[in-house]
Amino acid sequence: MVMTEVLDKLKALQDILAQKNSVEDSIQNAPKLLSTQEELLSRLKKGYIEKNEQYESVRAHIADLKIQLLDAEAAREKSEKAMDTITTQREYEALDKEIRDAGEREQQIRKDLQKEEHAFQELDENLKHEESLITQQEEELTERKTALAADIDSMTAELDSLTKAEEEVSPGINPETKFKLERIIKSKQGVGIVAIHGNVCTGCHMILPAQFANEVRSGDKIVYCPYCSRILYYVENPGIENEYFNEEDAGSLSDLDDFIEEEDDEDDGEDEEESDDKMDYDE
Ligand SMILES: [Zn+2]
Repeated sequence: MVMTEVLDKLKALQDILAQKNSVEDSIQNAPKLLSTQEELLSRLKKGYIEKNEQYESVRAHIADLKIQLLDAEAAREKSEKAMDTITTQREYEALDKEIRDAGEREQQIRKDLQKEEHAFQELDENLKHEESLITQQEEELTERKTALAADIDSMTAELDSLTKAEEEVSPGINPETKFKLERIIKSKQGVGIVAIHGNVCTGCHMILPAQFANEVRSGDKIVYCPYCSRILYYVENPGIENEYFNEEDAGSLSDLDDFIEEEDDEDDGEDEEESDDKMDYDE
């Protein structure tokens, strides 16, 4: 196979592999999108359980206070009744003290009860609020999980079709070259094959030894940049210059504008390596 054909295949493979990597990353990271919400939900549930325990203990305390209150009331009433049957001053004083003590106890219990009932009500409202919050969060999470599962399905389908495309383009590429390209693409953000401009690698912008640049130009074999390990290829007539001269040949009045625009565009030199950009210029 001619080297330019191999290089074209490698460029096509690069696009496919870069897309595959990005889809694989998205699939892998998808569950992380829910982790914040899952954490929030589990915090809410933990808080709810703790508050519910508090609620139960306040409720038990209230029931206990109510019994104590009944006891105190009964003690007071019993002493009050006994008042009718006493005969001596000493008996009166003893009973009077019993009644006052029971009354004080009653009052204290009523106070405690009021405080506890207030706390109970607050807890009850709190719990109801948190319950609805938990329900809402659970519903949202279920919805998002469903949506995410659908996303993952479609990403998996995309991955399958990319794998098919990879299988179609791979024949004719040396497996070792393919393996190297895969690794470069993973470590170099999806760009594993780049043009040289003059003696400069457009991937890492390092000036290459003349011998390397010559090897790239001769196009006899695959050459890797000694600095960034990317596969290098040579473009004889960079697209922009072609475009410019063609337009001048056509001799239209817009040539001057185009010329100025292109002169001002500092990125021109970098764009030549991208076949997409060339297509844009052709339009
Ligand atoms: Zn390089």
